[in-house]
Amino acid sequence: MNTSLMNDRALGAYLGFAIGDALGATVEFMTPGEIAAKYGSHCRIVGGGWLKLKAGEVTDDTEMTLCVGDAIINAGGWDVHAVCEGFSQWLRSVPADVGNTCRRGIRRYIHDGTVATPLNEGDAGNGACMRNLPVALATLNDPVAFRQWTLEQCHTTHNHPLSDAATLAIGRMVQRLVKGGGVSDCREEAQALIEAQPNFRFDRYNGLCTPFIVDTIRTVLHFYFLTDSVRSCIIETVNVGGDADTAGALAGMLSGATYGAKSIPASWLRTIDKRVVADIKEQVPALLKISNMHSAQSA
Ligand code: MN
Ligand code: MN
Repeated sequence: MNTSLMNDRALGAYLGFAIGDALGATVEFMTPGEIAAKYGSHCRIVGGGWLKLKAGEVTDDTEMTLCVGDAIINAGGWDVHAVCEGFSQWLRSVPADVGNTCRRGIRRYIHDGTVATPLNEGDAGNGACMRNLPVALATLNDPVAFRQWTLEQCHTTHNHPLSDAATLAIGRMVQRLVKGGGVSDCREEAQALIEAQPNFRFDRYNGLCTPFIVDTIRTVLHFYFLTDSVRSCIIETVNVGGDADTAGALAGMLSGATYGAKSIPASWLRTIDKRVVADIKEQVPALLKISNMHSAQSA
């Protein structure tokens, strides 16, 4: 496998994720009509939004993802307690935004030290799926570890079959792309997801992008397969509004893994929070290294 291509795609996924978050946060919870009236097509990272962000600032989506990455890198592998500790420290830092289900799960860990939340009908939000990229990057060659780490990661706060299925499917897409695959690989994974959980069908997309994992994933897949660049994929996705930062982040992750970091518009890279870029550039090679160690062990 061509390592420079792999690095470019892994970096593209992570940077695309943070950019989609920063761009989408401006229009989070707005309707397409409100966005069009205020921005035309919203395509510049200007901050603002209901969180009153600075231009380039990211939100909980990217912050929690970086927590997962840090925990994996510091443990040199999987340690779900380290992930929960990372989330707890992050919550104590009083972040600008925290999802309700995430907050509940982190509080449970702080209170009783348990690392998994029981199965809950109300847990089908997108909060676990949004932060799984480091797990995908650290288990590229080990599908058993990918599945186990992913489910444990998800269940720290969210325990729902729809969240689990989507997180596994999206993670497998990223892995196939980073390893040199293309859009057709994602088609296969999307088909398998829909066969297992028909709720995720997106062929008659209804324009609804809520924090419900089904709505988020349908939005992301609809625009991912409709567009042919990081720029178009992120812009089309965030202009639907609703949970625009999370959908934008996942759209940026998939398109970034498809078209590579080199294809990300320079104006976006210049504007996005410099500390976040530095953290991502540190995490990507470290996570890929853990991936290689794993395949060496299991080979
Ligand atoms: Mn967010
Ligand atoms: Mn969101």
